[in-house]
Amino acid sequence: MTDEFTTEIYYDDDADVSTLEDDTVAVLGYGSQGHAHALNLDDSGVDVVVGLREDSSSRSAAEADGLEVTTPAEAVAQATYVSVLVPDTVQPAVYENAIAPNLEAGDTLQFAHGLNIHYNQITPPEDVDVTMIAPKSPGHLVRRNYENDEGTPGLLAVYQDTTGDAHERALAYGKAIGCTRAGVVETTFREETETDLFGEQAVLCGGIASLIKTGYETLVDAGYSPEMAYFECMNEMKLIVDLMYEGGLGAMWDSVSDTAEYGGLTRGDDVVDEAVRENMEEVLEEVQNGEFTREWVLENQAGRPSYNQLREAEKSHEIEEVGERLRELFAWEEAEAETEDSEEE
Ligand code: NAD
Ligand code: MG
Ligand code: MG
Ligand code: MG
Ligand code: MG
Repeated sequence: MTDEFTTEIYYDDDADVSTLEDDTVAVLGYGSQGHAHALNLDDSGVDVVVGLREDSSSRSAAEADGLEVTTPAEAVAQATYVSVLVPDTVQPAVYENAIAPNLEAGDTLQFAHGLNIHYNQITPPEDVDVTMIAPKSPGHLVRRNYENDEGTPGLLAVYQDTTGDAHERALAYGKAIGCTRAGVVETTFREETETDLFGEQAVLCGGIASLIKTGYETLVDAGYSPEMAYFECMNEMKLIVDLMYEGGLGAMWDSVSDTAEYGGLTRGDDVVDEAVRENMEEVLEEVQNGEFTREWVLENQAGRPSYNQLREAEKSHEIEEVGERLRELFAWEEAEAETEDSEEE
């Protein structure tokens, strides 16, 4: 091991917001990322126009926040720098209808996730720069951190550099939204997209949800109470993950009992065994060869039949019903404890 980072990381001193002084940035979409980027850019002195559909419910929010709002097509026409922050699944249509007809040579087309470029759902012309600035956090934190003079780490990638300035311009954008305060890590569209999809499928969202449900079912099927199973397999997860977030696996192992540490170290790999590793390799393969993305594109074109069914099934899992009941009880006890505290004062 070495202390050197294997990849380039950029900070405030590496970037200059005035690089964008002659630009107008079109922020398309005013959701999680869109509102944060638009407001942070505006506060950083960058000229911003928000592009939203005429009937978008976000219009009034963007206007109330003091931003100029127009249609996506008009915003792209006005802009020299286009930040695509509508949902990934609608980006290809927005690109065809609003972006492509209004892009000009030398413009920058920027994304916050590489999916549509990497899997060729969007094919930009050769005479524009194609970049990515992807904050590694939900948009409300990108905004809140910026307002608190703090930063949000982010990723930067350049897919196409026709002006020769793509990197410098993306870095300036990263600085304007507060990312270089915390560090902007250089990556590629391929690496960002494939690791993001793999991570959310195998570990973060899919993997952990299945681990929790399988643990819960194992206990309940063996006759233990659903409440105990919920606390053990779901509720305590947060406490464990908080420790890992603060100090890695080491902080977690240090904090649990020796019994838990020994049990975990001896049994963890029995649960997540070589078969699971092979499953993960298969999931990665389907990400790399585009099979997952093809399936997801077709699912959307068909009106999301499987997706809707899976969502319903997940909502009706017993652990969700037990959890809702217990969390309500908890909230009530917490509220009561707070009232008692304040009465004592
Ligand atoms: P979102 O769903 O929160 O917001 C989408 C916005 O686009 C909304 O304002 C919506 O009104 C608008 N919109 C929807 N359909 C539209 C259409 N047809 N035309 C114009 N506008 C339309 O999206 P988000 O989560 O901010 O994601 C935006 C991008 O940022 C995606 O590429 C996503 O992968 C990426 N990203 C998201 C996060 C995150 O934590 N949310 C983190 C990093 C990157
Ligand atoms: Mg333009
Ligand atoms: Mg993702
Ligand atoms: Mg325990
Ligand atoms: Mg214990």
